[in-house]
Amino acid sequence: MAREFFVSSNVVFGKDAVKKLPDMLKEYEAKSVMVVYDAGVKMAGIAEKVLAEVEKAGAKVTVFDGVIPNPTNEVVEEAALLAQKEEIDVFVAVGGGSSIDLTKAVNILMTNPGPIGQYGGIGLVKNPVLPLIAIPTTAGTSSEITNVVALTDTKAVCKYVIIDNKIVADKVIADPEFTKTMPPSVTAATGMDAITHAVESYISNMATPLTEYHSLKGLQIFYKYLPRAVKNGADMEAREQMMLGCIIAGFGFSNANLGLVHGIAHTLSAHFHLAHGMANATVLPYVMEYNADSCP
Ligand SMILES: [Zn+2]
Repeated sequence: MAREFFVSSNVVFGKDAVKKLPDMLKEYEAKSVMVVYDAGVKMAGIAEKVLAEVEKAGAKVTVFDGVIPNPTNEVVEEAALLAQKEEIDVFVAVGGGSSIDLTKAVNILMTNPGPIGQYGGIGLVKNPVLPLIAIPTTAGTSSEITNVVALTDTKAVCKYVIIDNKIVADKVIADPEFTKTMPPSVTAATGMDAITHAVESYISNMATPLTEYHSLKGLQIFYKYLPRAVKNGADMEAREQMMLGCIIAGFGFSNANLGLVHGIAHTLSAHFHLAHGMANATVLPYVMEYNADSCP
């Protein structure tokens, strides 16, 4: 059976990659840019570095720094209102999965009617979205290159996902230096998210030889470098390899999808506000045992 393998991101990878940002914005002829991040990114001094580059492009800049972990529909709609008011034409998302997912969701609402909840599912976004540049500061979710957004519905008390090839970030600026300030606990939790993506996409019944290659390669990298990155955050070889592994594994799971671990982990996060990677790490061994007979 013929199967599709979809990849659409343009990735600039390596030290000082952020210096490419002004040219990217000029290429889009950006007039009004929204930069999205959270308090952690601000405290680490990364927001400042990104904003300095955005300003070189000469566009009007609007900041949304109200990103929360496991972002909710309400926060998406609050940011979307601001973006519409400021007539944003390009988005820059800086941070982990929460910042990038929130920005992808806001971007949907720029060209598609609300509420955001109606796009939960696969391929339900009707209209193309605006340019989005993703700048990851963690190595885990792969949100910078995937077609997935995970949001929290506070009324139904659940997490749900929007999966659509239209919402992939157009460009990715991946500088391993930006992951250096992650404390060991966050490095471990986000890294376990990455391991879960590689494992679940590898054993997925939607896996193909192309996705399996990416999942396995990602897993090999994480196995070798995650312990090193947790032990010594300044180990730049480990930081670089973790970021690279997330991009590689992301291409795999974007196409093969995930499984029961993520299903259960999303429920744990919605009810107990557990960080996504921590929820995955908690559930992974039990689901592996449960699945073992079906995928020896
Ligand atoms: Zn995940």
